[in-house]
Amino acid sequence: MALGRIIELARVKYFQEHRKDDPSCSGFKPEDILKVDPKDLNMRVLEGKPRPLFDHSKFHVSKSSLQTYDTCPYKFKLQDIQKTPSTKPSTHLDFGGTIHEMIDSLMKEDPKNIPTKEKAMQKLKEKLVFRAFQSSNEEQYHITRGEAIIENYLKWRANNKNEILDTEIWIDFEFEGVKIKGKVDWLEKNPNGEYEVVDFKTGKCPQSQSEVEEGLELYVYARGIEKKNEYGKLPVKASLYFIEADKQVAIDLDEDKVKKVFDEKIKGLIQDIMAEKFDPRPDNYECGRCKYLPICDAGKSAV
Ligand code: SF4
Repeated sequence: MALGRIIELARVKYFQEHRKDDPSCSGFKPEDILKVDPKDLNMRVLEGKPRPLFDHSKFHVSKSSLQTYDTCPYKFKLQDIQKTPSTKPSTHLDFGGTIHEMIDSLMKEDPKNIPTKEKAMQKLKEKLVFRAFQSSNEEQYHITRGEAIIENYLKWRANNKNEILDTEIWIDFEFEGVKIKGKVDWLEKNPNGEYEVVDFKTGKCPQSQSEVEEGLELYVYARGIEKKNEYGKLPVKASLYFIEADKQVAIDLDEDKVKKVFDEKIKGLIQDIMAEKFDPRPDNYECGRCKYLPICDAGKSAV
């Protein structure tokens, strides 16, 4: 039964990835799912310590995976350790990725000038071509949403007096013996010559000031920029810009503030991940929107 479910989930994942080029899933081969590399298996010994679930020496985390662990360690295990496919469509993530790609691509093509709305719409449609929408209505809905987002983005650009330094910047640094990786959406220099980080959010509901202060991501981005040779100092400000709601929530940063988050929060998360503590943390709201709900008993009992 369990094996059959794994194959069904893998076929759904194949369909989501090949909706346009192989909608009948003729290229999906169940036998490929059963090919297992023994080094990926948790071959627990019958006595003594169990074999680790992952190679601790090569392990790295991203700011998103840290956030996932913070929300539910079991979800982190399914998603980031076991790479379990899910049956829920990924339209929301897909759309967010499209908006990020559109902004980055426009910036890389012309870093000095603000694009026209027509140019941005054209770019949006280019980026949407291969996305997994269930119907043309759903595709049109996202184009309309994208148009509203573009209008806000262009207005935000016109009012932004900082100098834009770069977009989609890879960060990669070590903390507590583990690599933390990620991508910073947007880096600016203010008129005082100090750095400011912006992360774009495409969800409909903006976070409050306290939620942003308590989150991890802006502190991770700030440390990542400081650790890059070409920048070498901590940004003084970081913000989340909720484009659809046209709301920017900013926090001021300094070394004490960033160090506190790393020492008091991120350190504990990393230690728990390395200790392989992956118990589910059921919560009505989180489980209700979790892509693993169909295969998680703890989650099902919470919703
Ligand atoms: S359904 Fe809930 S408990 Fe289960 S993995 Fe998702 S968030 Fe965690």
